[in-house]
Amino acid sequence: MKIRWHKLRRRAVRLAVILFVAALLGVAARADRPYAPTRDYHLENVRVVLHFDLDQRKVIGDVTHTLTMLRAGVTHLDFDCAELTVSSARVNGKDATFDLHNEKLSVQLAQPAKSGEKFTVELKYEGKPTSGLYFILPDKDDPGRAKEIWTQGEAEDTHHYIPIYDYPNDRTTSEMILTVPADWITVSNGKLLGVQDAPDGQKTWTWRQSQPVSTYLISFVAGEYKEKKETWHNIPVTFNVPRGMEDTIEPTFRHTKEMLDFFSDRFGVAYPWDQYAQTAVHDFVASGMENVSATTLAARDMIHADLSSEKPEAADGLISHEMTHQWFGDLVTCKDWTNTWLNEGFATFGATLWQEHYYGADASQYSLWRDKNAWVQSKELYPIPIVTRDINDSVEYVGNVYDKAGWVIHMLREQLGDDAFFRALKHYLEVNRLQNVVSADLAKAIEESSGTNVDLFFDQWIYGAGAPRFTVRSSYDEATKKVSLNVKQSQKIEGHVGLFRVSVDVAITTSRGERLFPIEVSKADETFAFDVDGPPVMVLFDKGDKILKTVDFQKIPEDWIRQLQTASEVPDRADAAIALGLLRDNEAAANALGEAAQHDRFWGVREEALRALGRMNSAPARKQVLSALSNDQPWVRAVAVEQLGRFHSDDDIAKRLQKLSSEDKAYAVRGAALQSLALGKSPSAEPILEKAMGMSSPQDVLRSAALRAMGSLGDNSVVPALLEWSSPGKPSALRSIAIGSLGRADLKNHDITARLISYLNESSFDIRFAAIFALGRRGDPTAIEPLEAMLKSGGSVGIGVPHAVEDLIEQLKGKAAQQKGAAAADAKNGDAAAASTTGNQEVIDRLDRLEQTIGEMNDRLRKMEASMNAGGKSD
Ligand SMILES: [Zn+2]
Repeated sequence: MKIRWHKLRRRAVRLAVILFVAALLGVAARADRPYAPTRDYHLENVRVVLHFDLDQRKVIGDVTHTLTMLRAGVTHLDFDCAELTVSSARVNGKDATFDLHNEKLSVQLAQPAKSGEKFTVELKYEGKPTSGLYFILPDKDDPGRAKEIWTQGEAEDTHHYIPIYDYPNDRTTSEMILTVPADWITVSNGKLLGVQDAPDGQKTWTWRQSQPVSTYLISFVAGEYKEKKETWHNIPVTFNVPRGMEDTIEPTFRHTKEMLDFFSDRFGVAYPWDQYAQTAVHDFVASGMENVSATTLAARDMIHADLSSEKPEAADGLISHEMTHQWFGDLVTCKDWTNTWLNEGFATFGATLWQEHYYGADASQYSLWRDKNAWVQSKELYPIPIVTRDINDSVEYVGNVYDKAGWVIHMLREQLGDDAFFRALKHYLEVNRLQNVVSADLAKAIEESSGTNVDLFFDQWIYGAGAPRFTVRSSYDEATKKVSLNVKQSQKIEGHVGLFRVSVDVAITTSRGERLFPIEVSKADETFAFDVDGPPVMVLFDKGDKILKTVDFQKIPEDWIRQLQTASEVPDRADAAIALGLLRDNEAAANALGEAAQHDRFWGVREEALRALGRMNSAPARKQVLSALSNDQPWVRAVAVEQLGRFHSDDDIAKRLQKLSSEDKAYAVRGAALQSLALGKSPSAEPILEKAMGMSSPQDVLRSAALRAMGSLGDNSVVPALLEWSSPGKPSALRSIAIGSLGRADLKNHDITARLISYLNESSFDIRFAAIFALGRRGDPTAIEPLEAMLKSGGSVGIGVPHAVEDLIEQLKGKAAQQKGAAAADAKNGDAAAASTTGNQEVIDRLDRLEQTIGEMNDRLRKMEASMNAGGKSD
């Protein structure tokens, strides 16, 4: 699953929401089941017949389970079942008594079962689920919207619309029979067997998934969608979008068939299913979900034709992630959530693999470098191993099973070499085909296929936590012509973190060229000596950034400049850019960064150079950023414009930004200019933002940017506009952004808090989610009660979110107590609201981390995140 990452506060990003959160990954859904349950039976087939009452948002179902007993003496058959009312149960055609308790439906057997005995169990039921199955229907915000019904099974939500065994450690074939209005289409798993007329102007669609899969991968989508149908190797490949979004099909999905070829070839196992459907749905709770043979995607992540030239890699990050899951996750599935990295780590890795293939090694290395930097900065992730049963803090956990696990697989590839690595993947997929696995199955497959023992590797990277923190110092002895390199592992050895044993390439360049010295580092403190032919001009520890780690390697500014200018690998140049950005008053550093910002051969290094200049924040840096505004790649230009928001605003900058905000040919640049104007508190900003609210643009990117910028402006004069745009009746995506900006506006105004509280009751998940985050930012204790009520009502706020909301309530309570104390101590001028705002920082940080952790590794999103961080914060 590609978690959606809600970037409420982030600019440059359309809100509506992406990657997660909500939705986080299912791991968070049921932290109470880190161990797979013991099974009484094996599901052979699940036949689901559904129809719907749209007015009531109700599903009416009839499910028939065919199952085989795995043990003798069982007296009743248990199914997971939530939010559903079961009206009848029949076992082998005879009525049976049943009991529904604690999300467990127990169907009584006439006599104790024998091992191997087969049963058919038919259950009739109906319900109005708040998770698992979602109705997206016209409402006052959007009376003309397409009607949609879609499902989301991961982690354990399938049992909210089908009473079923709902844990990954079993696999079943399935049939999905859906009766819907005649002008709808449906998409489900496997093969479409037929569409027949049904009473009342409806049609019945019959789908069959003939290879067994875990039940969280069962899905359907039904509604007013438009389908584009192609074929690939004789199977249907379809692209489905809500009506009105047909223009997004080509720019979003154009590489699908090439990817199917690529992954079939690279993984050594042909694409295994009867079709590959990709369907975009509105208000999806994630960015994407790898339902077997029928991926569901968020409509908000589709690429608008007029914006596709502004995205370096279109939606390929998302498309390739979900497609990789069709092998890693669907064909071979984790047995329990503890082993989710076998799904998500490979999907993350697969996206990088596609990037390397299609966009080149510079692009994939840059993604990895950024993933690494995000991961090493997360203190919460560091002490937790990728595989852990202790998943109480599942939010943090998510960052390990995506980012870190993707990196670990990348390191495994480096260690084994391509030939052995891809042979191992093929073997792993073949021997575990249509089965459920744990981490040891991968280690075993690698050893069987390549002879390489990876036990140590798994111990330190999969079952152990952290990553090495290296301190490196080098010196050169002219007399002996030796470079000496002292390497310390300075991470604290505690808990699951130990010393690491890793192979590292040291690259030393002299006037005669570069030489590579492979070394193995395993001790806390060791010194290596290398014979060279003269004084070194560049020393790289772990050339090309092959190891997940941090490095403190002190170099003089001239050395960093040389590294920025001459290192052959992107990560080494990007590291140099970061180091130079710390040399605030060094004009030569600013000039070198300026040169790189305009002329580095890879756009990612240009962006890093610009961000470094923004952090420098000096007069020479300002000059260099202004010179880089002419960059012809719009996403690089947008980063340059974002940096301008960090410099002390003057007339010159304000005029440039004003011009860019109305004249640049890229919408991303125009949006970035609005944000920078707001951050610079330019007096002209407010009228320009108001004016931008009147402009139409594809996917409303300009209005979105203006609403987001209003949150950064720190001027109460925009509050009326924000309140207006947050109101019911405005487009949902814009409402969410306006709500996010209200989280930062006029913090003492309780009326704003009250308005945000009223949004907690809305049916739209996106609106509720935006309101929760905005209330967290405001730190107003009057939000405590309504937030508690919302949690109690059990309405879906997204996986992982309740946890954060609980934290938020706790912090707000602390603030309330603090305020009382402050008021008593100093009734005259205690500014409780201000105190609460500062004290609330911890919650905000936690919410921020939640957002970030959930964030996925889609490169496009990553870019946006970086630009937000660079432009959206004042530090
Ligand atoms: Zn995924």
